Amino acid sequence: MHELIDAGFRAFEHPAVVPVTPLDEGRGLYVMELFHGPTLSFKDIAMGFLINTLDFFLKRKGERLSLLVATTGDTGPAAMRASAGKETIECWALYPDGLISEEQERQMTTLDAPNIHAVRVRGCPDGSDDLDATVAGLFADSRFKEDVNLSSVNSINWCRVMMQTVHYFYGYFRTVGDGGGKAAFSVPSGAFGNLFGGCLARTMGLPVETFVCANNKNDALHRAFTSGIFSREDLKQSLSSAMDIAAPYNFWRFLYFATGGDGDKIRQWMSRFNEQGRVRLDARTLEEIRRGFTSATISDGQTLDTMRNAYQGQAGYLFDPHGAVAAAAAEELSNTFANDAKVICLATAHPAKFPDVVRAALGPDEVLPDGAIHPSIEAAKDLPSHEMSCDLAHLDGLLKDAMKKRVG
Ligand SMILES: *Cc1c(COP(=O)(O)O)cnc(C)c1O
Repeated sequence: MHELIDAGFRAFEHPAVVPVTPLDEGRGLYVMELFHGPTLSFKDIAMGFLINTLDFFLKRKGERLSLLVATTGDTGPAAMRASAGKETIECWALYPDGLISEEQERQMTTLDAPNIHAVRVRGCPDGSDDLDATVAGLFADSRFKEDVNLSSVNSINWCRVMMQTVHYFYGYFRTVGDGGGKAAFSVPSGAFGNLFGGCLARTMGLPVETFVCANNKNDALHRAFTSGIFSREDLKQSLSSAMDIAAPYNFWRFLYFATGGDGDKIRQWMSRFNEQGRVRLDARTLEEIRRGFTSATISDGQTLDTMRNAYQGQAGYLFDPHGAVAAAAAEELSNTFANDAKVICLATAHPAKFPDVVRAALGPDEVLPDGAIHPSIEAAKDLPSHEMSCDLAHLDGLLKDAMKKRVG
């Protein structure tokens, strides 16, 4: 077990794994960087351990697995990198054409190993939500599922959620210490996996006073926390594209706990959500989910302003667009925290994954700061790329054929 955990974090390039830095110590404001793993995003936190653990058990059983992931840009690179060269695993990462950064795309297409496959999918108006629908369809085909031993490492994967509880403890003790003081975490949220890890940490006893659910303009979560209506709207493209999710699926888990484990109620809500695109939570559930939770929706303009102000201000700190959403939300809600609370913003991606957004924030005349350059991203620019591509309408058929050929 120790060996699997150590191996999962060996590729992290910062000795602290998830370093915590003060942004404004006087105000008790910190940033915790979750992006020092091999593909420079928060997704590496869980993925290394998860894939190594799968590999360990598959080897023991003498089996092989097909892993299928749909990505908003970061899960794909993390899953492919962790799987590369593993004899037990064939990894397929689907991404919506044009909706992820070139840097993220190259992380997948320039990775060279026979068992990993990047698939660019054209015509996804709802981004990775469209890909999720195809994935769900393949999982529903029990014959095919068995033929290729199909599995997934999407953000609903329990092992990922479990691994995402740990950094909350670390961040708390690094800032508050062990005297039982107050902390708030601001979490840039898409599918609610990171934040659900935080909820579990609190359930385990970590005294977190407030979680801030920070959304971009795809703000289904913020709307649910404020209005009690959990609803699906059309996907909007934002500068923090890894959080462009219309239906945050880990929220169901959170609701399950909030209703005291009422599976029947959740089942009804889920089917109503799927049919009508919205459910109204009852008053008791709404009260329950708001306990120790606040939320905000942050526009692209606010994201850029936050990036510019943090970089040009006292701290001289360069945020990526996702971390900036967390920082902007913490700022917007700052008068709701206890005076003595430590406020920890989670930074979930390295700025080098989003140089175009950094340029947009700092202005065309600024040279790209060193903090927005990373050797692995630079190196990928010179590597040959290989990927499959198809239209969403043909994805199902293409995948079935290609996957059967690899594991049959
Ligand atoms: C995945 C991701 C998020 C959102 O995390 P969820 O667990 O889906 O809420 C935020 N920022 C970045 C950079 C990500 O890759």
